[in-house]
Amino acid sequence: MTSPFHLDTALAGLAPLDAVEEISRTLEGRSPTEIIAAAQTLVGRDRLCLVSSFGTESAVLLAFAAEVDPSIPVVFLDTGWLFEETLAYRDTLSRQLGLTDVRSIHPAAERLAALDAGNDLWYSDPDACCRIRKVEPLARALAGFDGWLNGRKRYQASTRSSIPVAERDGERLKFNPLASLERAEVEAAHKRFALPPHPLEAKGFPSVGCLPCTSRVAPGEDARAGRWRGKAKTECGIHTLISAH
Ligand code: SF4
Repeated sequence: MTSPFHLDTALAGLAPLDAVEEISRTLEGRSPTEIIAAAQTLVGRDRLCLVSSFGTESAVLLAFAAEVDPSIPVVFLDTGWLFEETLAYRDTLSRQLGLTDVRSIHPAAERLAALDAGNDLWYSDPDACCRIRKVEPLARALAGFDGWLNGRKRYQASTRSSIPVAERDGERLKFNPLASLERAEVEAAHKRFALPPHPLEAKGFPSVGCLPCTSRVAPGEDARAGRWRGKAKTECGIHTLISAH
């Protein structure tokens, strides 16, 4: 495996936004910590953040990031509809990993008043609900950064099977440091870091989002089958709509 020093050399001089495909090729197969360190080098340490839902599969990326730099800004989308267990998990994990800059961001009060005064938009128009509770707040939070890290893996879903390690997201870079890992590797990392599970995982929730849009999953079902059950929707939109904001 090429050392981080050689990786820096390979990336030196690249204009990140224009060279994103070359960057992604260079980082393919590297360890998550190498990718996170390279991302900091490419966009600048104070211009890179990590976006986390503190869901059932969030801990491993947070642990790798904390290994590289526990002061990395972590953006957490508090939609107003999260399980209490998720908020508690955010606090537990942050403490355990020594993360010093976890920023909880919220939907704009005027958008909620205008579009979701009855708190039922999740039912009538979940895409609009995700837009005002996730996509718009994230777009505001990312305005101060030139790059962000997220924890998507290719094995998670057919819609994620070809995500690159680095991609362009409007005028910033998005890094997927865990993209190429297999499920067994993620589970091994979870064990190696001695990470606690999300409190709802043992109760039949292998994937946890907002309370009204998350249901228990039966044995043998896909891990994300409980998300927006009965609806065509499979993603919240932060990975498809953010460039438009
Ligand atoms: Fe709204 Fe459901 Fe999206 Fe949460 S997951 S923002 S409740 S539609």
